[in-house]
Amino acid sequence: MVKKRILSGMRPTGKLHIGHYVGALENWIKLQEDYENYHLIADYHVLTTKLDTREIFQDSIDMLIDWLACGVDPVKSPMFRQSQIKEHTELNLIFSMLITVNRLERNPTLKDQVRDLNIENVIYGYLGYPVLQAADILLYKGQYVPVGEDQVPHVEISREIARRFNAIYGEVFPEPEPLLTKFPRLSGLDGNAKMSKSLNNTILLSDDAATVKAKLKKAVTDPLKIRRGDPGNPDICLVFSYHKKFNPGEVDEIDRNCRSGALGCVDCKMNCANNISKFLDPIIEKRKYYEDRIDEVKEILHDGENKAKIVAKITMEEVHTKMMLG
Ligand code: ATP
Ligand code: MG
Repeated sequence: MVKKRILSGMRPTGKLHIGHYVGALENWIKLQEDYENYHLIADYHVLTTKLDTREIFQDSIDMLIDWLACGVDPVKSPMFRQSQIKEHTELNLIFSMLITVNRLERNPTLKDQVRDLNIENVIYGYLGYPVLQAADILLYKGQYVPVGEDQVPHVEISREIARRFNAIYGEVFPEPEPLLTKFPRLSGLDGNAKMSKSLNNTILLSDDAATVKAKLKKAVTDPLKIRRGDPGNPDICLVFSYHKKFNPGEVDEIDRNCRSGALGCVDCKMNCANNISKFLDPIIEKRKYYEDRIDEVKEILHDGENKAKIVAKITMEEVHTKMMLG
């Protein structure tokens, strides 16, 4: 049986955080047995918010190490940089003709980011973020796209572009569907609805136990629960949402003891920090393995790029034929 294909990527903006894992990476790892996975290091997409490229290679390697440390299997799942596969930019150009400016301006993800990052003037390439993303996905004919909730509107744009291309030139592309985890949007330590590197509210996958504790200490909780004894409301507590993911076995008890006031926030936070570190420790361990073997990591990247180039070339030949170009 032919396996269905998955395409998903991330922007190399440095080391990953637990939001990336919970929203997307966990699914990549889970699904790599039953699907044919391709994973993209979206280094061109970084330019939408950061033009300084001096650290982009190191950031890409750091992210690749995080993927490997979490369990992405380089034999099953090719991992490659967008900038090294020229066909991404070519397909991006063709796709940019198939969507209106108006449609891109209505993209809710763009609106959220413009607000969160206080962006005053949106650059042309930023508006086109989801068009390049459509090229990323469709170049590999990705049928499923495991992403966090913030990316769902982008996958919808990919679907629209695929439909439009197919209607004009003939059937080439599938209509990709997003795949969400049970925790599609992890909140940040400051209570913002999205944990995000650019908002500086993250717990990194590489944070050691002391760092996780220090960060959790500052995390926001129910503002009406000031000291132990005060009844709290776990439904609005950020730390409780982390317990749900990283400490599911104790959730009922914590819920009860928070509401009654028996459990204080400091104890609750330290328990949460311990459980997050229990999850992170093996990742940190595996990270060390790869950090000591950078040549092996570069080899994995090189190998992934060679595999990706083969698929990209075949798709573009098909596109050229359908469009009667050349
Ligand atoms: P950052 O702002 O931290 O760099 P990002 O959103 O720019 O994060 P992307 O590379 O765009 O990072 O996202 C990588 C993947 O991780 C996407 O599928 C995205 O939906 C998912 N993701 C990122 N942050 C979260 C989060 N807080 N909760 C769930 N999923 C997330
Ligand atoms: Mg993003």
